Amino acid sequence: MKYISLMGATGSVGTQTLDVIKEHPSEFKLTAISVGRNIELTRKIIKEFKPELVSVAEESLVTNLKAEFPGTHFTYGRDGLIEVAVYHKADVLVNAVSGSVGLTPTLEAIKEKKTIAIANKETLVTAGHLVMEEAKRNNVSLLPVDSEHSAIFQALQGEKEKNIEKLIITASGGSFRDRTREELRNVTLEDALNHPNWSMGAKITIDSATMMNKGLEVIEAHWLFSIPYDKIDVLLHKESIIHSMVEFHDSSIIAQLGTPDMRVPIQYALTYPDRLILQTAKRLNLAEIGKLHFRKMDLERFRCLRFSFEAGKAGGTMPTVLNAANEAAVAAFLDGKVSFLQIEDLIEKALNKHNNISNPGLIEIQEVDEETRKYVNSLL
Ligand code: NDP
Ligand code: MG
Repeated sequence: MKYISLMGATGSVGTQTLDVIKEHPSEFKLTAISVGRNIELTRKIIKEFKPELVSVAEESLVTNLKAEFPGTHFTYGRDGLIEVAVYHKADVLVNAVSGSVGLTPTLEAIKEKKTIAIANKETLVTAGHLVMEEAKRNNVSLLPVDSEHSAIFQALQGEKEKNIEKLIITASGGSFRDRTREELRNVTLEDALNHPNWSMGAKITIDSATMMNKGLEVIEAHWLFSIPYDKIDVLLHKESIIHSMVEFHDSSIIAQLGTPDMRVPIQYALTYPDRLILQTAKRLNLAEIGKLHFRKMDLERFRCLRFSFEAGKAGGTMPTVLNAANEAAVAAFLDGKVSFLQIEDLIEKALNKHNNISNPGLIEIQEVDEETRKYVNSLL
């Protein structure tokens, strides 16, 4: 039996993690969860899974829940996230919160030697060097949940890092794949939230439309697989059937394929190095699909991807600025305060303004993160 702490239980990855846990009651037990503000869903989760510890976003949200569930321990806020991350009974932390708020809890869980199943890419983008260092020091495994990184991880099983020629990360292209920059000028929030292949949380769906999601994934891959940026390629592949590939020195390419269903990489992270049947997963019928398409990625059309490669290569606090500016700009777009193309303008301004700090510690990262959000908000 594996005991699981789940951060972001009410989100898209969170609820799909619950589906996986539900399908294997003799393998997994949910012991602790964190949620934000979705108390309706939190009630349902507590009734069904009976976690011992529940953290919510704010203290005011705790009162009613306490009365309703006297046997459950409740906590809240940033400290609450950490309590969930390090919960003594948990073997594995599934980090499915969105945004860099996931960073400190992840570092604390690593210190407590929890295995980390990581969906929360912002954590690795913001402070990949600190997370990887801490994981190495504590001999902790970081198992990817993001479908592209799970694909690469699966393709690398039994392989040696030194034999990698390059990683090929596939990108669906998001909601606006086939639109020109001119056509992007007047797109609405509703258009942007309409992803062709994947059903995901609002923030990552916008990140997919701007291609920032792929940019964050490039930086995530750099850290997870210790691969230099010039050995990471991004390839447009509209069907989202090949989830990513690894090319080796001998010219062989190993790819991982499947229908776009996040429960598969989530479950693999929980069962690794084993696999379990996932009854509800749709099997891939390649004969029915017939054709797969690929296209070279255009870094001028998708500027956020170019910013990400540049920030990643610059290192230091540049990726922190990239991520924080993006989080603030996407929040502003979701609030109707800026247009779609302004998201990239805000990120570019924040990157241009920043004086890079090399090899930053946690405090410096948190300061830069906060300053960047303030700066972007001051431009709105
Ligand atoms: P959602 O927006 O659907 O869910 C986010 C979760 O985090 C919710 O439970 C939300 O709570 C909680 N949350 C948000 N902010 C805070 C906060 N400040 N404090 C505490 N809890 C908070 O996101 P997704 O599930 O789509 O994505 C989660 C992460 O996984 C992201 O990093 C994303 O990039 C990554 N990812 C997602 C994929 C997907 O298919 N969705 C695929 C690959 C990676 P509540 O709703 O209760 O307010
Ligand atoms: Mg992904």
